[in-house]
Amino acid sequence: MSIKVQSVSKSYDAQLALHQISFSAKKGEIIGFLGPNGAGKSTMMKILTGYILPNEGEVSVNDIDVLSNAIEAQKNIGYLPEQNPLYVDMYVKEYLQFQASIFKVPKERVQEVIEQVGLTPEVHKKIGQLSKGYQQRVGIAAAILHNPEVLILDEPTTGLDPNQLQEIRTLIQKLGKEKTILFSTHIMQEVEAVCDRVIIIKKGELLLDKPLKELKESNEQSVEVTFDYKIEEQFIQKLPYLKSFKNNFDNTWYLTFDAQEDMRPVIFDFAQEQGLKILELSSQNQSLEKLFKEVTN
Ligand code: ADP
Ligand code: MG
Repeated sequence: MSIKVQSVSKSYDAQLALHQISFSAKKGEIIGFLGPNGAGKSTMMKILTGYILPNEGEVSVNDIDVLSNAIEAQKNIGYLPEQNPLYVDMYVKEYLQFQASIFKVPKERVQEVIEQVGLTPEVHKKIGQLSKGYQQRVGIAAAILHNPEVLILDEPTTGLDPNQLQEIRTLIQKLGKEKTILFSTHIMQEVEAVCDRVIIIKKGELLLDKPLKELKESNEQSVEVTFDYKIEEQFIQKLPYLKSFKNNFDNTWYLTFDAQEDMRPVIFDFAQEQGLKILELSSQNQSLEKLFKEVTN
């Protein structure tokens, strides 16, 4: 496993930041780590990268125990912290050479990462003169200097304009072809655009951990249907794939299904069997965004 987190809990004094979190990442996966502010995303990432210790639990990266062997584990990890601390007065190349010397990486590697993250046109500028998007590229370049197999990116797209955001997403996808990436965000569309898997946490609790494909395919359908006559609950319950039902007004039902097939024709047939007519019917596929709202609200 590239990343393995088992029953991790962490509190800052009385403040519980993570409660019994477990998840893992296979080699080459891109995982979106999603949650509202204060959910515990940064805390989880600091634990994964060996910068802070949990109160309980186990963490390994590339099968190296991070808690007992942080230095060795860090050789396998590239980390872009949330605020991306950079030396604004240093030139791009100078900064990366400085980082390379700290990590004992050969100087030639600097030119390679500059090309890899698309920094070439800005390479002679001071970091402080760069746009936020290019500054993020500098942070990502520094994180991949030692060619780690696992990348941990804490909100890499926060504060970027739409163009920069798209560029950084594309870069994440490109890096994800070779590396395992865990990146945090509070933007659902971003997860939809680049991830293989989504993990949602809220108030330190893990709420969801699923492949994106599964989420998209198992999209819950919700159907609102009005019949011409009243129908009893026990008949409604005969509908296949029914997950929930609600009847606010006499003849109108709010139904949700967990089905691959379109449930509308099934409901038409059902109505006919019951001797009812359908006066109105509307169906909606639950988007990921809606799911996110539901899970986090
Ligand atoms: P996120 O990155 O999802 O916004 P954080 O991991 O930064 O969440 O924070 C999780 C919770 O832990 C929050 O309630 C936050 O206030 C608290 N917290 C984070 N860091 C510290 C700290 N160094 N000291 C005290 N509380 C902290
Ligand atoms: Mg954070």
